[in-house]
Amino acid sequence: MHGRDRRLNTMPAMAADIAIIGAGPLGLATALALHRRGQRPVVLDARTPAAHATDARILALSHGSRELLELLNAWPTAQATPIRQIHVSQQGGLGSTRLAADEYGLPALGYVMAASALAAALLQRVQALGIPLHFETTVGTIEAGANMVRLNLPDSAHLEARLVACCEGSIPDEAAARRRDYAQHALLCRATLAVPHQHLACERFTAQGPIALLPCGADYAIVWTVPAERADALMAAPDAEWISALQTAIGPLAQICSISERARYPLGLRMRSRITAPRQVWLGNAAQTLHPVAGQGFNLALRDAWELADTLTGAPDPGAPELLARYARGRRPDREGAAAFTDLLVETFSSDLPLLPDLRGLGLLALDALPPLRHFVARRMIYGARAWP
Ligand SMILES: Cc1cc2nc3c(=O)[nH]c(=O)nc-3n(C[C@H](O)[C@H](O)[C@H](O)COP(=O)(O)OP(=O)(O)OC[C@H]3O[C@@H](n4cnc5c(N)ncnc54)[C@H](O)[C@@H]3O)c2cc1C
Repeated sequence: MHGRDRRLNTMPAMAADIAIIGAGPLGLATALALHRRGQRPVVLDARTPAAHATDARILALSHGSRELLELLNAWPTAQATPIRQIHVSQQGGLGSTRLAADEYGLPALGYVMAASALAAALLQRVQALGIPLHFETTVGTIEAGANMVRLNLPDSAHLEARLVACCEGSIPDEAAARRRDYAQHALLCRATLAVPHQHLACERFTAQGPIALLPCGADYAIVWTVPAERADALMAAPDAEWISALQTAIGPLAQICSISERARYPLGLRMRSRITAPRQVWLGNAAQTLHPVAGQGFNLALRDAWELADTLTGAPDPGAPELLARYARGRRPDREGAAAFTDLLVETFSSDLPLLPDLRGLGLLALDALPPLRHFVARRMIYGARAWP
């Protein structure tokens, strides 16, 4: 038996109020939020601590997420590049609009950082607080009893807790009530620029899917959505061919000099049918996996973590059914709203049906001409569900 498993096997049954599955950015943020509210979490992850350094995802974090991460003392200022303006346009069509942070009295509309940098900052804070973390520990089956839940671990080890919070980053097919395959893949790369980005982020809609140019240090981090078969071809293409295709898609928005750090992710929408079960709750990508357009995923996940911690504040039994029911009810509008918002953007902007480009152009013109509409979209980006009146 390995040392770590022996430790878990001998762990007293009440060692944890809450077991968290997943030490990705969300599992770690959830641990900090729960600890801040007086709960005693323990975090388990199948991978090694070094695994998160290989996460190629780039996160656009809202101003609201920054506020929450600051309250957790886990905001990595040096790793965050501010977005001061966002330009929204469509390829080969009319209309564009621009959102600016100073219209909202904020230093930035949002921030860009590598998911790996955020995970590192959160991990450091979790370790500083002495929250127990067990890497290389895969959680197998979970058995819920009336008062406790049992997590079965490798080599016959187990852990008992009052509640298990699943931050495992995905939803298996059989648990998804709603599933939509966009037949799109996100291609990621970093691009050096001929002219500095001046903290301008761009969201450009093309018939093949949206492209985001995100200021990241002195470069742009690019999230480029394309059909799956085109992703195959581009991943195999030399840099020069990739740059030329990317330049065609983004037009005059930026002039790309070179690229590095290519990666790809398949995209789809998945909504878990129920986000709670007896003594179990699912958060973030494990509750809803969204298209990355408009960068909602982790921002929404962080609000899941925050509301769970708020709901469980001072609760002697964090797995009590009425608390989980309250949490699920409270999260519904935000989860449904974010899923509908991203789905609508993908559907409306990734189609070349006749007249749609003109209608989209009119939409962008309306957004530009009607400040209340623009402010609503901006507030949705800045604060998420708190944008609603
Ligand atoms: C291309 C792309 C761009 C994106 N852009 C943005 C953006 O701009 N803004 C934004 O907010 N979000 C964005 N997202 C979403 C964001 O990347 C995710 O929400 C976030 O990174 C997920 O973090 P997580 O901690 O939930 O999951 P993960 O980082 O996947 O961590 C899950 C962890 O759970 C562990 N695990 C799973 N099962 C078990 C088990 N049985 N036992 C033990 N451990 C287990 C895994 O080992 C893993 O370490 C984007 C996503 C993609 C794909």
